[in-house]
Amino acid sequence: EPILTVNDVKLTIDGRPILKGVNLVVNKGEIHAVLGPNGAGKSTLASLIMGINDLKEPDSGEIVFKDKLLNGLEISERAKLGVTLAWQEPARFEGITVEEYLKLSGRNNPDLDVVECLELVGLDCSYLNRFVDDTLSGGERKRVELASVLAMRPELAVLDEPDSGIDFASMEDIANMIRTMRDRGTTVLMITHREEIAEIADRATLMCDGKVVQTGDPKEVGGKFKNMCVKCEVRNPELV
Ligand code: ADP
Ligand code: MG
Ligand code: MG
Repeated sequence: EPILTVNDVKLTIDGRPILKGVNLVVNKGEIHAVLGPNGAGKSTLASLIMGINDLKEPDSGEIVFKDKLLNGLEISERAKLGVTLAWQEPARFEGITVEEYLKLSGRNNPDLDVVECLELVGLDCSYLNRFVDDTLSGGERKRVELASVLAMRPELAVLDEPDSGIDFASMEDIANMIRTMRDRGTTVLMITHREEIAEIADRATLMCDGKVVQTGDPKEVGGKFKNMCVKCEVRNPELV
C-alpha cells in the first residue's frame, strides 16, 4: 500500500535539469533506500517532498502523500499531514536546549521518552542541557536531529544521509536506530550514497543523473550502483 508516490517529477534549477522525470513509490511501513552518487538529485528530491529551500513544487509531475497532493503546500502543512525530513546538514537552533528541542518535536507523541530517544542515537542524558547550536559537533547535531525524528514519530520520515558525519560504532547502530523508527510506525525513506547502508532497507531505488535507474531488492540495486556510478561519474564529471 503506497504512502508516498512521486510521479514523473521534473525540475530545472537555473536552466539546468536536475530531476528528469523521477518515479518512486514508497509503501507504508517499509524502509526504502534511495541510493545514488553525489549530484544525482537525491537531496533535491527530499527538498521537494518536504517543500524546503523554496522547492514547493516541481516544474511538472506530482508528489502524493496518502492521497493528498503535496505540490505547493507549505512545510508546516506537510508536517501536519505526517511528513518530516532530517536534513543532510542539520539546522542549529540558538538558545534551545536538546531537551526543549526533543520535547517540542515530540509534543504530539503521548509515549515520548526524551532520554530513550537520545540513547537510541548513541547520546547519553548529559546532552539534555546542551544547546542545539555550534557548541555541538556536526555529528552530534546530526544525532540530535535523528533523535528528534524518533521523538516526533511521523508517519513518513525522509532521512537525508543519516550516516554522514556520524561516527556510529558500527553499521548495526544505524540499522537498529532506523529499524526502531520503523517498528514504531514510521515509514522511512532513507537517502544514502553507501550501498552497505542501503542494505538495511526493505527495498531500494537507484538514482543517477536526475533519473531513477531501478527499484528493487537492496542487494541487487546496491550491486548495480557500484557498476553504474562509475559510468555516471565519467559522463558527468562535474557531479562527482
Ligand atoms: P545529491 O543529494 O544526490 O548529492 P543534490 O540534489 O544535492 O544531489 O544536487 C543535484 C544537482 O543539483 C547538483 O548538481 C547540484 O549542484 C544541483 N543543485 C542542487 N540544489 C541547487 C541549487 N539550489 N542551485 C543550483 N544548483 C543546485
Ligand atoms: Mg550530495
Ligand atoms: Mg545530498
